[in-house]
Amino acid sequence: MQKPASGTAAVSDRLIVALAIVGFLALAAVHVSTIVLGMRADAVSRRTERTVLASGLTGKASTFFPGRYQLLAQADPAKPPVPEKRGRALSIDAQGRLIGFSKGVDAGAVSPYAALHAAEPALRKLARATPDAQGLTTATSVDVFADQPELTIALRRPNDGTTMVSVVNLNDYISEYANIRQLPDFALVGIGAAAPKKLMTPVTFDGAPARFGLEWTPKSPAREIIGPLTPILWIFTLFALGAGAWVALRAREMSRRLAASEAHAQHLALHDAMTGLANRALFSDRLDHALEIRRRMGGGLAVVCIDLDRFKQVNDTLGHQAGDEMIKTAARRILGVSRASDTVARLGGDEFALVLAPIGDRSTVELVCSRLNAALSGKLEFPSGKAYLSASIGVTIIEDDRLSGADAIRQADLALYAAKGAGRGRFTVFEPTMDESLHLRHQIELELRAALDAGSLQVAYQPQIGPRGKVDGLEALVRWRHKDRGPISPAFFIPIAEEAGLIHRLGCFVMTQAFQAARRWPHLRVAVNVSPVQLREPGFVALCKDLLAEAGIEARQIELEITEGVLVDNDERTQTVLRELRDIGFQLALDDFGTGYSSLSYLNAYPIDKIKIDRSFVANLGMEAEADKVVRAIIKLGRALGLKVTAEGVETAAQQERLISAGCNSFQGYLHGRPVDLDAIEALLQPPQAPAAAA
Ligand code: C2E
Ligand code: CA
Ligand code: CA
Repeated sequence: MQKPASGTAAVSDRLIVALAIVGFLALAAVHVSTIVLGMRADAVSRRTERTVLASGLTGKASTFFPGRYQLLAQADPAKPPVPEKRGRALSIDAQGRLIGFSKGVDAGAVSPYAALHAAEPALRKLARATPDAQGLTTATSVDVFADQPELTIALRRPNDGTTMVSVVNLNDYISEYANIRQLPDFALVGIGAAAPKKLMTPVTFDGAPARFGLEWTPKSPAREIIGPLTPILWIFTLFALGAGAWVALRAREMSRRLAASEAHAQHLALHDAMTGLANRALFSDRLDHALEIRRRMGGGLAVVCIDLDRFKQVNDTLGHQAGDEMIKTAARRILGVSRASDTVARLGGDEFALVLAPIGDRSTVELVCSRLNAALSGKLEFPSGKAYLSASIGVTIIEDDRLSGADAIRQADLALYAAKGAGRGRFTVFEPTMDESLHLRHQIELELRAALDAGSLQVAYQPQIGPRGKVDGLEALVRWRHKDRGPISPAFFIPIAEEAGLIHRLGCFVMTQAFQAARRWPHLRVAVNVSPVQLREPGFVALCKDLLAEAGIEARQIELEITEGVLVDNDERTQTVLRELRDIGFQLALDDFGTGYSSLSYLNAYPIDKIKIDRSFVANLGMEAEADKVVRAIIKLGRALGLKVTAEGVETAAQQERLISAGCNSFQGYLHGRPVDLDAIEALLQPPQAPAAAA
């Protein structure tokens, strides 16, 4: 039953791992594609920057040179113009003499001759240059002077042959442009000196090989946007992973719990909640399985049904809690006897069942059953009182391959029924005849009900002889003359009536008749047999009172015969009922004395007037030494306790002699008369001893 649980958990584990991987990959993909997109965006921006800058500069240059030439062409040679702060300007006459020099405010300590020297390359170019359409000869040169790239512009005026030179610090010029473009580190540097992370584009002048390049830190708009986003993205990623993990763990926990509760529900569906044993459904499933295995592989298989004796009584008198405790104790003890391969089930109430498989031969089965009987016996103490645990057990040993599970349970049940009938606290192995006897019992039950309905039962009376040798009492005994089956013994149908709940009607019928008989012979005591089932019926005392009133007789005329078993059960209700009956005035006799538990302690505890020595002892008088001893002991005991003692089943004068010599003076048996109907009793009692009977 653990399997589905772990299976579900495994599925959810795999699902969780898959979800985690997918989540992680999705986030990683977002990261990577953001970075790639950013890089591409930045690359595009760099390309644009490069072209924009280059064309911007070219554009600027294209306005710069004409402007400069214009300025130089019209300036006063004595005061050559210096537009830039670091710039310098020279003027040279046709003979090559320096005739003017000026410098910007930030040009530093530059001498006119040093400036002339620096202008050499441009002047050399100018010497080789040819005039343009307007007659102007120009040349430019870029050189490094005091670590600064400088542009020298030279122009020879056609009118006076004066050469005007203007030197511009290119970086000043460029930074002006850079300011507009917002590129703070835009600079002109020597080729090959590009700093890391900077871009460089070579700058050529006059078609000469590039010696300078423009260098700047490129703008990375994407990185600028993504940069601050990255920690947020990471925080989000970690949060998402954390949340995902939390959700996954919760889901896992929930699926675990679900699996556990599923297993629990499954367990509940197949087990008894109180004892944890298999329930009826699981039991029949296991039984079918065991039967199938036996069919294929052979091997021993036995089915056991167990019923706790007098459980209902414990429940009724000691309370449900005691009843529950008793069930739990029984379950534990049965488990203690069974093996791991057996199935132990509680079928309901106080019914248990076992499948013993594999099991050895019949002797092994019997051994197990006797162990079960031993385990299920003994005193139990509850807060509400003591109870005696005992169980009846029925077992069937499966030998027929065609037998179904239901058949097997029915057979074990029949055996259990037989065990109960045989006196409880024992086990019985199923025999095929039980099936037939059960059928017969069912039939008898139906017919007895019909007989009660039809009023076709009768009561016979057997005389009892008192100490003066005269009839002083009658025992009422029910009679059933079946129209087909002939007379049926009460010893056979009374237990059926008890089982079927018919005993109340039957008992009521016999008592009504017996009380009428007592009214007819006021000087006689009439004995009536009362079943333990009747005693337990609520309202029994009231019924007796009503019947007394109806018959108009006194209670002392009636003797109620109860069996020892009633006393042994020792529950408070029975005690109360007996006391109430005694208080009303009924006489109480203990029937079949000596056959049951024979514990003399009961006699003291109960308000008993008489004991009746069971006829099995009387029958053996003079034949078995033991019987004589027992009879003597019983009579002695009865005397000691001040009880009347009647011997039952006295058939011969010899038996009576022995009883008399043992001290017994009250007899009942064929020697004095069989149970007969009222008219026959009338004849027996001739001459009538009581004229009042006519009333
Ligand atoms: P029991 O109460 O012990 O009744 C005496 C039984 O012994 C009667 O059997 C009676 O016919 C038989 N008997 C009397 N004298 C002799 C004798 O000398 N020799 C032999 N062999 N038997 C003798 P019965 O009428 O068949 O009743 C059997 C049992 O059925 C009774 O045993 C009693 O336990 C029960 N029973 C009979 N009538 C009633 C009834 O109305 N109510 C209840 N609850 N049980 C009854
Ligand atoms: Ca009796
Ligand atoms: Ca008896």
